[in-house]
Amino acid sequence: MPAILERHLFGPGPSNPYPEATSALALPLLGHLDPEFLRVMDETCDRLRTVWGTANARTLPLSATGSAGMEAAFVNTVTEGDVVVVAVNGLFGQRMCDVAGRCGAEVIAVEHTWGQPVDVDRVLSAHSSPKVIAAVHAETSTGARSDIAALGAGKGDALLLTDAVTSIGGIELRADDWGVDVGYAGTQKCLGVAPGLAPFTINDRAFERRVVKPRSWYLDLGLLGGYVGEASGSGGRTYHHTAPTAMVASLHAGLGRILDEGLENVWARHEEAGRLLQDGLVERGLELFAAEGARLPELTTVKVPEGVDSAEVRKILLERHGVEIGAGAGSYAATVWRIGLMGHNARPDAVLLVLAALDDALA
Ligand code: PLP
Repeated sequence: MPAILERHLFGPGPSNPYPEATSALALPLLGHLDPEFLRVMDETCDRLRTVWGTANARTLPLSATGSAGMEAAFVNTVTEGDVVVVAVNGLFGQRMCDVAGRCGAEVIAVEHTWGQPVDVDRVLSAHSSPKVIAAVHAETSTGARSDIAALGAGKGDALLLTDAVTSIGGIELRADDWGVDVGYAGTQKCLGVAPGLAPFTINDRAFERRVVKPRSWYLDLGLLGGYVGEASGSGGRTYHHTAPTAMVASLHAGLGRILDEGLENVWARHEEAGRLLQDGLVERGLELFAAEGARLPELTTVKVPEGVDSAEVRKILLERHGVEIGAGAGSYAATVWRIGLMGHNARPDAVLLVLAALDDALA
């Protein structure tokens, strides 16, 4: 039997799951059309509506990771020649441009300096009548939070498409109040579940304007409605693909844990852990990377001090302390570290551990 390695996953995701989410993976497997599984799926969709802050009927866990959520969002809303304005303030905004372009869109990328939040006025004035405006709520590549509510308030007739992969279950997210028409997320960050599902939501306004026969069969939301029983209510399921029943059970349990604690309490726990970590780093003379006022609590970016070998420090953290932190993204790979305190890891004891391990590695 191979050695069991336990890691403290303090990078940009995955994070250590909530224990309830891990235990659920060991439950006896249910068939994907078993009435008990259908009940768990229905309840999971209800719980997802709560963490999204939406009443959207079409809210479901797509059977793939966050990037497939991104593909589903674009392939169902955008086709040849549609104008898509994308706010690019990091790696995932760049990825949105790539995906929208592959759908045939005319992409208008509104570039920002990495580490800055999205400039709402520049994004809203980039085109007079785009079909879609797209932005990342929490840029995992830089640690910056953007104002999705302000984009929603100014979107006009456009559809607002939002990446909530690193925000859902960690910071305030109110899809309906903020005017989000289409949103996608991931399970492996603040939701505290292993990677593998993409919580997704789309409102009626966007669904009515959707691409009727998108180029992806698997991600066609028109076909996926029956998968979660949307067309004819519970019990009216049609087979689309085999639901990953163990993963859905795990998500169901992770969401249950969040809702038992209280969503706003969970946000406050992330806020506190992030503040403690950021204060601790600054006390040690380290410089934070993301712009002040836009720093995410769940993902802190910090500049690697002059003369320090970024990779060597990460290696010491991992080998000596079992602590994983992330390198920077893109051109910041060697000059920035990314420290995540997400989901189950958003706790003061995790902050103490990562700071002590860093003290040791930097000594
Ligand atoms: N969007 C953001 C903001 C992310 O942080 C990530 C993953 O880190 C993704 C999209 C892509 O998700 P996945 O890696 O689960 O496919």
